[in-house]
Amino acid sequence: MDDLVGKHALRLELPADAVNDQTGFESIAQLGTALTECRRCPRLVTWREEVARDKRAAFLDQEYWGRPVTGFGDPAASIAVVGLAPAAHGANRTGRMFTGDRSGEWLYRAMYRAGLANQPDAVSVDDGLRLTDVWVTSAVKCAPPANKPTTRERDTCSEWLHTELTLLSNASVFVCLGQFGYLAVWRYLAATGVTLPKPRPKFAHALDVKVDGLRVLASFHPSQQNTFTGKLTEQMLDQIFVAARQASIGS
Ligand code: SF4
Repeated sequence: MDDLVGKHALRLELPADAVNDQTGFESIAQLGTALTECRRCPRLVTWREEVARDKRAAFLDQEYWGRPVTGFGDPAASIAVVGLAPAAHGANRTGRMFTGDRSGEWLYRAMYRAGLANQPDAVSVDDGLRLTDVWVTSAVKCAPPANKPTTRERDTCSEWLHTELTLLSNASVFVCLGQFGYLAVWRYLAATGVTLPKPRPKFAHALDVKVDGLRVLASFHPSQQNTFTGKLTEQMLDQIFVAARQASIGS
């Protein structure tokens, strides 16, 4: 992984006290602090704040986060899970990825069964959830209308994701949730100089690509669209996290 990190040349417009040669940040926590101030995508800023102000009826008594959502988990993780974006009434409400929504219920239950989480539930930032050897993040850091960021928003936010993944210096197993997450990981690896197979393998559930000592595992996204219809079952999601765990032990 050191070789991979050594290939990074990506830089953001960084805070004045930035020090890390490759990313400009001392730590992933410092990156997270800077991220929460980002307002680079006007449409997403408007949307995340509108949702936070208007709220869903069930959460009227709660204060929404309404800001960019940074990754969550173990900064020394060897497994990085990359989804699409915060859910409007999930992470955009609670301030933690996949927390407070149905997708997260599926995701963290699977991680718990795989021994990567200390509990199956994720309802709020103070619920006691702890992850071991896994970091959960998203390609776009602000909730988009209809879960559809524009290409420009995706590309703008990719600087954050690439920097985050760079700071996650032990990550060697990438679990991609849905095609959007898969393509985001692919672009990241390409940007770091990893020699990727061409043509790119078509996204599919349980796709497993081994490249340059790294593993890329793809999963259908645990969105309600997939879980309600049976396109993704709990057993199928378990299969991904068991494989990720085994890959991380072997790495
Ligand atoms: S989507 Fe990313 S780049 Fe755009 S405002 Fe949010 S954090 Fe900033």
